[in-house]
Amino acid sequence: MRVEIDQELCCGYGNCVVHAPEVFELDHADGLAVVLVANPPEGEQAAVREAAADCPVSAILIEE
Ligand code: SF4
Repeated sequence: MRVEIDQELCCGYGNCVVHAPEVFELDHADGLAVVLVANPPEGEQAAVREAAADCPVSAILIEE
């Protein structure tokens, strides 16, 4: 799995950080989400899918 965030769409709601804090973080400078682990391990992938489903602006892009 490969995960990216579309910075143009992200509004910094933080749902992704709640679902997968090991993979996403809110940048302190601009408040938008950044990906900490672009290729999340097996154990994180379900949480990443939940984060993508829960992102209000569909800014999380997953490539399987
Ligand atoms: S859930 Fe979506 S809009 Fe919210 S911080 Fe994460 S990527 Fe950005």
